[in-house]
Amino acid sequence: MGAGMVDIPKIACLGIPGGPDVRAQDSPGTARSGACIYCREPAGGHHKATCVCWTHPVRVGIYVEGEMVAVYTHHLPASWDAEAVRFKLEESSWCAGNLWDVEHVAAALRERGVEGDCLCGAVDLIAQMGGST
Ligand SMILES: [Zn+2]
Ligand SMILES: [Zn+2]
Repeated sequence: MGAGMVDIPKIACLGIPGGPDVRAQDSPGTARSGACIYCREPAGGHHKATCVCWTHPVRVGIYVEGEMVAVYTHHLPASWDAEAVRFKLEESSWCAGNLWDVEHVAAALRERGVEGDCLCGAVDLIAQMGGST
């Protein structure tokens, strides 16, 4: 387990303010089955503690050619350890091109002359494991 990750408080469920509750409208799968599609908790209940719907903010540094050009906050499952975060950012199907939607990051990248829809080869993303030693 990543020691740095576990102390960060769980603050949100899929970006829904105040919401650790399973809500039918949260996803088509939940609406269909009446339960969280990840932890199977019924609508109206609370997601299990290990459910990916419990997220917390992880600060991620964006590096271009070894130099950090921006930091942004990515909401990721609170149960993930450092390795899971690294996998998501570096090896999963998540595309770094999503960063173009983060205004201050996009501005910093344009300033550096970075272009292209997919940024996966152009930037390095390193989670700033705040508080860990
Ligand atoms: Zn759940
Ligand atoms: Zn990509």
